[in-house]
Amino acid sequence: MGSSPKIVVLGAGLAGIGAATKLKTLGFKDVTIIEASGEAGGRIAKACFGKTWIDTGAQFIHGASEANPVYCLLKQHGLLTDVVIEDGTELMFHSKGHRVSADLANRVYEAGEEIVRQQHRGSPGKNMGDYFAENSLGLVNSWRVSDEEKMDILSILTLVGKSLLIDIGAQALNSVALDSWQYYTNMGDDLNIEGNMFPLIAKLLEDFPKDCLLLDRPVVKISWDGSFCDHDKRLYPVSVECENGEKFLCDHVVVTFSLGCLKAAPVTMFDPQLPDDKREVIEKLGFGCVNKIFLLYEKAFWERDAGSISLLWEDETPASLSTDSPQWQKNIQFFTVMRPREKFGNVLIGWCTGSVAQHIETMTEAELSAAITCNFRRFMGNPCIPCPKMVLRTQWHSKAFVRGSYSYIPAGVDGVIMDQLADPLSSRKNSSEDLQVLFAGEATIKNLYGTVQGALLSGYREAERLSQHYGRPVPSSTPCSSPTAI
Ligand SMILES: Cc1cc2nc3c(=O)[nH]c(=O)nc-3n(C[C@H](O)[C@H](O)[C@H](O)COP(=O)(O)OP(=O)(O)OC[C@H]3O[C@@H](n4cnc5c(N)ncnc54)[C@H](O)[C@@H]3O)c2cc1C
Repeated sequence: MGSSPKIVVLGAGLAGIGAATKLKTLGFKDVTIIEASGEAGGRIAKACFGKTWIDTGAQFIHGASEANPVYCLLKQHGLLTDVVIEDGTELMFHSKGHRVSADLANRVYEAGEEIVRQQHRGSPGKNMGDYFAENSLGLVNSWRVSDEEKMDILSILTLVGKSLLIDIGAQALNSVALDSWQYYTNMGDDLNIEGNMFPLIAKLLEDFPKDCLLLDRPVVKISWDGSFCDHDKRLYPVSVECENGEKFLCDHVVVTFSLGCLKAAPVTMFDPQLPDDKREVIEKLGFGCVNKIFLLYEKAFWERDAGSISLLWEDETPASLSTDSPQWQKNIQFFTVMRPREKFGNVLIGWCTGSVAQHIETMTEAELSAAITCNFRRFMGNPCIPCPKMVLRTQWHSKAFVRGSYSYIPAGVDGVIMDQLADPLSSRKNSSEDLQVLFAGEATIKNLYGTVQGALLSGYREAERLSQHYGRPVPSSTPCSSPTAI
């Protein structure tokens, strides 16, 4: 084959960009990225809203520390300078029209988080919903409070469960494995960097050759284990075909499609078909959906130092957690305030998950605006709260080249199967491991799935796998010294 293998990376999300840029730094010359949409970034995406640009996809650094390569890259590129570090006050309002005491809200929220944020190693078959409901009840019963306070506490704990569902993206906590995070690497506290995530994509691609990033080319077929002849008369084992008929022959293809796209791919996408064990893993893993509703107001109706506004429904308990669409209004109850106000204006983000996230994709923004305003008025006891002057709702489930938000581990499944998803495919005709089809993406990394750093590191992992395959040294790098130059 010679010393210059042809490598094609499918998808220009963070995993694809990570793989392609790392391959370049490792000395591979012939690297092309093929992306279906008209823009790079994938689930790191932007939209113009009001007076600025906003992140419609990822906006939190889960683990803002030097151990996190994305945090380090953002820092290196000066993208963290105007980030508001303080969380801001959490405001909670009850459906009966009163404000919940901040002291009670904080104490209960913290206790609820203690229950849900444990790693729970080796609890096969158990689910988060049962565990959370059981332990929440135990917690409430252990506190000496009035019956009325008890109801408030249960509502706050329900909110904790719903926030957890948003983090996971799933439909119901009952469908999520209790030991989902048994392999998880905790890199530190979360940092909300709203409006600063998407610029990283352009920074990472700054030195990547423009003519090697091919946009607007949905891939429809990946033929492997073949022998395809190119104009240069060389034979290649892999052929990638785009919707427009263009074909790209190569020695290795790195597939970074979302798990949602892999689940939805027609059987004809891979030829020969993916092996049974790979298809089984794709089927078993969960791919959830989270959507955001951006609401821009003429004037803020919340306090200046507010970081979030939550609406607590009186008849909800941790045992009744559900995102069934008839209940959709009850599941748009958590709003973060975009800060700094000087940059974004008076903007709230409403968060929703599971079937509600899918349901709101079918509604008009005017319908959403009316329902949310009605709830704010009722819960905050203020009939004068205005309607937002602008609304933008994301539609991640309907996005053909994503089909949801991020992967999760369903009850009864061990996250170790993400390793199987990451396993590369080699020729079945000869015994040599020739790594024809490699897999990267957030769903392929069990210790950081669902995160931006997981996506990036999975791309680096596959680039390093190829480098080792060719006997090239892989320089050891600490996250904050990750190569950016090409
Ligand atoms: C609403 C939302 C909020 C999130 N919030 C956070 C957060 O706060 N913090 C965090 O760490 N993570 C968050 N995430 C998750 C994070 O965005 C992802 O884990 C990460 O960006 C995934 O990167 P990826 O490269 O694996 O996949 P993607 O970004 O999905 O990239 C895959 C690429 O493949 C392309 N593609 C798909 N099909 C084809 C095809 N047939 N042909 C060619 N190209 C194709 C897609 O267009 C896409 O560009 C969020 C995600 C969403 C949707």
